[in-house]
Amino acid sequence: MSEKRTELTDLGEFGLIDQLTNQFTTHVSTTIKGVGDDAAVISVSETEAMLVATDMLIEGIHFNLMYTPLMHLGYKAVMVNLSDIFAMNGAAQQITVSIAVSNRFPLEAMEELYAGIKKACDFYKVDLIGGDTSSSLSGLMISITAIGKVEKSKVVYRSGAKENDLLVVSGDLGAAYMGLQLLEREKEVFKANPDIQPDLEGNDYLLERQLKPEARQDVIAYLKELDVKPTSMIDISDGLASEIFHLCKASKVGCTIYDEKIPIDAKTSMVALEFNLDPTVCALNGGEDYELLFTIAMEDFDKIKGSPHFTIIGHMTDANSGVNLVDKQGAIIPLEAQGWKSF
Ligand code: ADP
Ligand code: MG
Repeated sequence: MSEKRTELTDLGEFGLIDQLTNQFTTHVSTTIKGVGDDAAVISVSETEAMLVATDMLIEGIHFNLMYTPLMHLGYKAVMVNLSDIFAMNGAAQQITVSIAVSNRFPLEAMEELYAGIKKACDFYKVDLIGGDTSSSLSGLMISITAIGKVEKSKVVYRSGAKENDLLVVSGDLGAAYMGLQLLEREKEVFKANPDIQPDLEGNDYLLERQLKPEARQDVIAYLKELDVKPTSMIDISDGLASEIFHLCKASKVGCTIYDEKIPIDAKTSMVALEFNLDPTVCALNGGEDYELLFTIAMEDFDKIKGSPHFTIIGHMTDANSGVNLVDKQGAIIPLEAQGWKSF
């Protein structure tokens, strides 16, 4: 080791991953896609591939147990991983679950966590096939690996978007972030005065989007029904803007999106304004929506346009044009990827 010291804060999450992994080459011919997409793609036969995705949730970073029920946490930890399998246009099949837990937690707490994991397994028809268990000095960590399968000809990478493709998103955005803001606000109120009951009435949708998200397995089915194979796809875990940057970087294209097209639930907008936040900014940078963001060829426009599940929010441009947002007044604003700042 040299004397040189580079701060991780300067690199950011994606810079760090890149720095650590860019020296690796593949040694095995069955590795079709390694680092750099939502899941790795491994050849298992002439026509079939296996998908592998891993995600980790850390207490104090990804969740706060003051307002996150353990059962919901278990369910969400599975969703986060299944979402990455769906983002490859695949079917989820198995998970492994590794936990590190401090003796602050009794057995009953861990049973609750696993009740949530089981609910997710039963609902999404995936099997828990292993994992690892360790003690931790403080706090709880959950690392899940999801395994899926997909026909090789059906795999959708981040890298396939072409100029003039349409950019499409499922569901609506920003709600999970506003759910988090509500929970954080009530936590502060509670800390100041534990006698005050939390005031979360009427915000079920936002809270559910934060605490009990669903991975969009249904979207994969809709796409199949509509006979649409996206040209590129990614799941929205870090916020729309960050994911658009990933698609553009991997596909070597630019993108223009329209503020007025971004699907935001009325409740999300209302609560955002209550917090003095711009709903569009919440959708762009909020994160944890677990919707799917994909591009389709122009020819598929007619198949998608009538679907209540999808919104066309923009189109891909040449790389030199960059990533731009056309605001409600028609002004063109270059976007910045913010996403989660993990470090
Ligand atoms: P996602 O948000 O879809 O979970 P990430 O941004 O976490 O994806 O990861 C991007 C890519 O980098 C993925 O292919 C992931 O497997 C890989 N990756 C992340 N962290 C590491 C690491 N520490 N070592 C090797 N590969 C990693
Ligand atoms: Mg992902």
